[in-house]
Amino acid sequence: MTKKVSEESLARINNFVEKYCEKSGTTTHPDPSITEAVVLGLAHHKDTLGKPLCPCRFYPDKEEEVKHRTWICACDDMQIYKYCHCLLFVTEEGLPITEYLPEDHEGLRTYGLVKDPTPDKGRPLRNKAEERETERKERPS
Ligand code: SF4
Repeated sequence: MTKKVSEESLARINNFVEKYCEKSGTTTHPDPSITEAVVLGLAHHKDTLGKPLCPCRFYPDKEEEVKHRTWICACDDMQIYKYCHCLLFVTEEGLPITEYLPEDHEGLRTYGLVKDPTPDKGRPLRNKAEERETERKERPS
């Protein structure tokens, strides 16, 4: 089902994706339909919640989730580990970077080790990994 989104949010998200790829040294997925679906989901959340909450997760209460910034794109996992589980920001092969994830993270189990091709870019919150893992345990998110 195609979500209805405003032109304004769509343009803002597309612009953000382009800039964030550049900034983080990632690329969008080689299959454009994947990018399109995620962009539409983000734009829909921007329209309905005021924030681009990650569209690839289930939230018991979306309004409540927005109060945390964990899953507002670019989410904490992206800014700490450079891992995008929606496959919006990936390597040229279309794989999410898993190199920096903690050992027991689902991303490593799913994709194995995917090295970061541009280690000099991204991960502005890399020093927050400990806090993130505490949150993952205490507030499953
Ligand atoms: S996983 Fe993170 S970076 Fe990727 S689309 Fe969702 S919020 Fe954005």
